Amino acid sequence: MHERYDVLVVGAGPAGLTAAQAAASRGARVGLLDAQVQAGGQVWRHDVRHAPPAVARRAIEAALSHPGIEWLAQTRVVLQEHDALLLEDNERAWHVRYGALILANGARELLLPFPGWTLPGVTGTGGLQALGKQGWPLAGKKVVIGGSGPLLLAAAATAKRHGATVLSIHEQASAAQIHRFARGLWRWPSKAWQAAMLRTTLAGVPYHTGSVVRRALGGDALQGVEIDGPHGRRQIACDQLAAGYGLVPNVELAQMLGCELRYPNRHACVSVDDMQRTSLANVFAAGEVCGIGGRDSARIEGAIAGYAAVGDQAQARQLLPARQRTRRFADALATHFALDPRVLALADSDTLICRCEDVPLSALDAFPDARSAKLATRCGMGACQGRICGSALAELSRFPRGGIRPPLFPARLSTLGTAPFDPESQGVHP
Ligand SMILES: Cc1cc2nc3c(=O)[nH]c(=O)nc-3n(C[C@H](O)[C@H](O)[C@H](O)COP(=O)(O)OP(=O)(O)OC[C@H]3O[C@@H](n4cnc5c(N)ncnc54)[C@H](O)[C@@H]3O)c2cc1C
Repeated sequence: MHERYDVLVVGAGPAGLTAAQAAASRGARVGLLDAQVQAGGQVWRHDVRHAPPAVARRAIEAALSHPGIEWLAQTRVVLQEHDALLLEDNERAWHVRYGALILANGARELLLPFPGWTLPGVTGTGGLQALGKQGWPLAGKKVVIGGSGPLLLAAAATAKRHGATVLSIHEQASAAQIHRFARGLWRWPSKAWQAAMLRTTLAGVPYHTGSVVRRALGGDALQGVEIDGPHGRRQIACDQLAAGYGLVPNVELAQMLGCELRYPNRHACVSVDDMQRTSLANVFAAGEVCGIGGRDSARIEGAIAGYAAVGDQAQARQLLPARQRTRRFADALATHFALDPRVLALADSDTLICRCEDVPLSALDAFPDARSAKLATRCGMGACQGRICGSALAELSRFPRGGIRPPLFPARLSTLGTAPFDPESQGVHP
């Protein structure tokens, strides 16, 4: 026995929520699953201390209360068998079939290694946001934020809202790049408004451009950072550092299914057509898994995918001009926040590249590709299954792109021991 949905949506961020709602609005029975406890994805991650913004609350409520949508919280896709997916939640494992599948599983942070990046007190920028929202105490902490992209401002604002003192923000892009980006923002009024709000929230927090976090300092825990800025190097005492260099699409599930990928830069994203169709029949993709474009782009693509998945191409087509506008914002992000070569040269031979398995960069020197390095050093074999070090190594141009082997995430043995999927069996909802 297995479940069957007309449309199965993987990921309940902005893209997945609108995809599910669009498909259900045409009468489809929709399964909406996410590995997290609460829907909302990365940008609308549940905050234990603060109420969500109205736009997030409305979007989440509208989808989860919509007739025809079944919400599957804390549910992960483990692997594919025939035309079914094996899912796991905290209690059970089961197979699910679908008429159409929508991949809306977003992106993760790009973390790049630098000396000291594994010290307690150092996280990614999105990581700091997630910790704060989940209740980890930030009040009274002296925080430095570094890396690249608009997420630095969002992370700083979250840290401040949770009572931290943000000492400074260090953006690696040059002043000229940032000014050009800011001057073009009038083309996306909602982004310009968001940026203005963030600057107001962060009034008084120094924002340095052309400024790179070179090193985290400390013995057993973080005590400070060394910054390389336009006026030379200096050290700042702090007890929390958040450093992230943009986002990387989560393509592993699409890759496992066999969807075609494209490579706009060193990182893959899922290749889709105007209707968000992937190269596989009945498999669609929407949001940041198709390329980093922000929340507005994710919501529009989700709606296009949802309508297209149930055959309402006419409605989907009406959203194409809006999609073009938001994707131009994605192009502007990629151009103006391109990484300075200084950032790619921060790690030295002793810097750990795989922090799950404690593998230093120099340990990889003898190997021609990721697979042989993995077999000999265990690089990429830890809890994150290479999601962090694999993306970092791709960015550093160390190894060609690797393949993917199921399971997608570390899974329970009992899940892997689930009776094999029988394509002849009757579903619970045939
Ligand atoms: C760490 C982080 C923090 C961010 N913070 C901000 C911010 O503060 N402000 C802002 O404007 N933008 C932020 N962004 C960017 C923001 O994520 C996007 O603009 C937008 O949320 C993308 O929406 P999406 O629906 O495509 O993906 P996401 O919002 O990333 O949603 C994808 C969802 O899929 C789920 N998922 C992934 N793989 C699986 C799987 N195999 N099984 C089950 N579920 C799965 C994830 O749990 C997630 O909830 C952040 C991004 C990241 C990575």
